[in-house]
Amino acid sequence: MFKIVPLELSTHFAEGTVNAFLVLGDKITLIDTGNPGKEAFQQLKERLHNHGVTLTDLDAIVLTHTHIDHAGAIPHIQAEVDLPIYVHERAKDSLHGGYHEFERVKHFFDQFLQSCGADPLKHIVKRNYIEESWRNVSYLQEGDRVPIGGKSFTAAHVPGHSQSDILLWNRETGDAFAGDHLLKGFSVNAFIEPPSPGETSRPKPLLQYRESLAKVSKLPLKMIYPGHGEVFDDHLSLINKRLQEQEKRCDQIVAILRNGRKTIFEICGAMYPHLHGKTVFLGLSQIQGHLDLLELRQQVRFEQSGSLVKYNLI
Ligand SMILES: [Zn+2]
Repeated sequence: MFKIVPLELSTHFAEGTVNAFLVLGDKITLIDTGNPGKEAFQQLKERLHNHGVTLTDLDAIVLTHTHIDHAGAIPHIQAEVDLPIYVHERAKDSLHGGYHEFERVKHFFDQFLQSCGADPLKHIVKRNYIEESWRNVSYLQEGDRVPIGGKSFTAAHVPGHSQSDILLWNRETGDAFAGDHLLKGFSVNAFIEPPSPGETSRPKPLLQYRESLAKVSKLPLKMIYPGHGEVFDDHLSLINKRLQEQEKRCDQIVAILRNGRKTIFEICGAMYPHLHGKTVFLGLSQIQGHLDLLELRQQVRFEQSGSLVKYNLI
């Protein structure tokens, strides 16, 4: 027997629900965990229970990435059982960096928002430092094999949405756990993130995301089990659709810049006038990603004066 059971969990984020997957086979493995907090953990346990599974039956947890709505229950789970956790090695710094790393990341985002012409106090969610230590973590690299439900899955590193995104796929069945790399219902934001400790320039997430899409389009996949929304097939059509959407956004940004030099905050106001308060960060991140692509294509360039960056057409 080998069966993949979606566990749809509530979340307060805009996407509505988040998926974890229970994989039942020679072993029982959990893919992702849902949100932090006692209620979310209770819901996860109830969903497992509905399928006759308790935490002690699980052999491991595999995380598609470390965003809070996917990895949030890890501390609760590990308070009850000492399960091994598999996650991409790019998550290591944020998991073990402590307060120093938290401050470094916060400083990066403050600077990023200032460079956009946005107010770091108004336009990004403020997070408090929470000391968390995960035990028994195995860090995955590109091509590593991971046992899921007793079958061997291969980890493909697919950065873009986050730096630690992996897609786990099985050659025999074509099943793939895609996390937030590919979602059917809406296009995925490629989030701006700080450089790794010791590096100076930030990753360019949309460029990474496009490379990851190219990588995934070459894999022989059948069913995609995503981090949000319904399970789907024909990932190639979806990838093409997402690439077309990126072109459309690039065209919109170019049209806005025809009126002269603009900050990212100004472009965001023109493109996403419905974004207010903390959600503005989502727009800034999206636009910075597309400006990175336009810069690569030599369609735009930027000038920096003080902390402020302005883009214009070439
Ligand atoms: Zn995510």
